[in-house]
Amino acid sequence: MTAASRYRGQPVSDGIGVGEVYLGDARGAAGGAAAGAGADEVRMAFAAVAHDRAELARQLRSRGRDRDAGIVDIGALIAADSALTGPVLDAVRGGADAIVAVQQAAEAQAALLAALPDPDLAQRAGDVRQIASAVVDYLSGTSVPPPPGSFILVRREVDPADLIRLAEAGLAGAVSVGGGASSHAAIIARGLGLPMLAGADPRVLAAAAGHPAILDAGAGELTVDPSATKLAAARARSVAAANPAHSAAPAGPVRTADGEQVTLLCNVASAAETRLGLSGGAAGVGLLRTEIPFTGAAGWPAEADHLAQLTPVLSLLAAQPAVVRLLDFSGDKIPPFLSCRVPGLAALLGEPGALRDQLRAILLAGRDTQLAVLVPMVRSLHEVRHVRAELAQAAAETRTRAPELGIMVEVAATAAAAGMFAPEVDFFSIGTNDLASEVLQLDRAGPGSQPALAADPRVLTLIESVVLAARQTGVKVSVCGDAAADPAVLPLLIGLGVRTLSVGAARVPRVAQWIAQTNSGQAADRAAQILGTRVKALCRPACAPQLKAERTTPPRPAPRSLEMARAAAVTSRTRSSNDPWSSSRSAGPTTPIAPATTPSLARIGAAIPASPTVASWSSIA
Ligand code: PEP
Ligand code: MG
Repeated sequence: MTAASRYRGQPVSDGIGVGEVYLGDARGAAGGAAAGAGADEVRMAFAAVAHDRAELARQLRSRGRDRDAGIVDIGALIAADSALTGPVLDAVRGGADAIVAVQQAAEAQAALLAALPDPDLAQRAGDVRQIASAVVDYLSGTSVPPPPGSFILVRREVDPADLIRLAEAGLAGAVSVGGGASSHAAIIARGLGLPMLAGADPRVLAAAAGHPAILDAGAGELTVDPSATKLAAARARSVAAANPAHSAAPAGPVRTADGEQVTLLCNVASAAETRLGLSGGAAGVGLLRTEIPFTGAAGWPAEADHLAQLTPVLSLLAAQPAVVRLLDFSGDKIPPFLSCRVPGLAALLGEPGALRDQLRAILLAGRDTQLAVLVPMVRSLHEVRHVRAELAQAAAETRTRAPELGIMVEVAATAAAAGMFAPEVDFFSIGTNDLASEVLQLDRAGPGSQPALAADPRVLTLIESVVLAARQTGVKVSVCGDAAADPAVLPLLIGLGVRTLSVGAARVPRVAQWIAQTNSGQAADRAAQILGTRVKALCRPACAPQLKAERTTPPRPAPRSLEMARAAAVTSRTRSSNDPWSSSRSAGPTTPIAPATTPSLARIGAAIPASPTVASWSSIA
């Protein structure tokens, strides 16, 4: 009998999964085929990559995407260039390891290019590295198909697109050596209800492929070759745990214990998640992450590519809210074709055809839904105006009605200036994942970043100011960051007056239960304890005159805060209480605050990191 091997990791998505080990980066990482590759295999690998790129360029050209085809063609030329292949072959013939030889030759070429004064030529350094990485993938057999039946994906860096692609092909869980709770792979795993570990012991990359394993995310452990008894018990647990809360999903609107209506939507990137969220009781989709299927793209997706991804999702949402976010190629979601350029919203807005193609596809695929368009990572009014003008143009071209336009509030400066953005937008969607990482100076995709950290007063105060600005101007506001599905932060958001939440699809039933156990008045008190009296002014207009008497902590240096609180107390609502985005508060009986897992202030304090790490993503402007 084989002895069990155990590998530890950080639990980033709950659950228990049973299946064969599937090594996504298998042979290269384990030192298999690639380690022994000779000159012929290396030559074949370069030729295969050159052929793949040339074929992709041909397809792009046949779809009228000449510019993208040109970019891909450069890759084909690099892969066939003897200036790169020559030194690799010489080194391998001299006994060098094939992968090391490819990487060293590519680095030498890239360094030469990067030093050139012409910026266009200097950019080719990134292309050389990409080609080298494709050759290494080819040599190391990363394209090994997953086994039939259920399996647990193990990779150095699990890609969110992998999870979506494999979700309905037997994927029972994932283990990533890199990443943390706020990386997009973790977010998608939670959305799909798949157990996942991040920051795992690197030795897991050499685990026995094809062997049976139990991934117990709660215990933070992958066990390979467990005993037959343990395997049977884990299998029984995973079957029992499969969507237990769905049967308990409340029908109709969700209400807090004291009767406040909360609209609960789901975050998705695929049709599978959308079905899961709707069956769990979500009232629609509050965030469709359109970039996830394209994180490996070789060029900007065309209208037809967008339609192919959007139609299966949006056709499930007839007459229901569908908030579709524009491509957010930033942070850990930058595709290869943008790796050497300015990524993010700037890239999309700088490529008029790309924005137009996506807007047209959204309008066409979403015409039967309650459609809204959401702009990610907004930093300036200029960006909002640019998208609004393009949206109007696309609506005219497609003979559809221009939908509402909202912005993600996930950059600290934008949150602080929410009042300036409010007159130009129809809604705010607060992205606590990026917001908290920036404010707390954490690497968003690293092990230190956690949804619960949005409870930090430095983050909460920004959320509060966004809610206040929304209330003052009648703009709708929701929270779609993962903090909305965190038992510690959820009551605080309700306490701050947020009445629309969008959470990972698989978490909808659980979040609905937590909301039902939460007393909004007591939640407001708890938020007030952290932030001071402005929260009371926001959630309890009648208490506004007592601001001074009720102050529990010294005022913070926020010049417009008291003014805004006063205005909030007297501003009449411009939206009906049936509006799903409404943030108004009605009186209700006082019941104990819940969920029971609501954090104490001490716990919130303990969650604040003492020495934040460098925010790598924040360098992306
Ligand atoms: C966020 O930043 O909170 C958010 C919802 O966007 P994403 O996680 O896709 O960056
Ligand atoms: Mg974000």
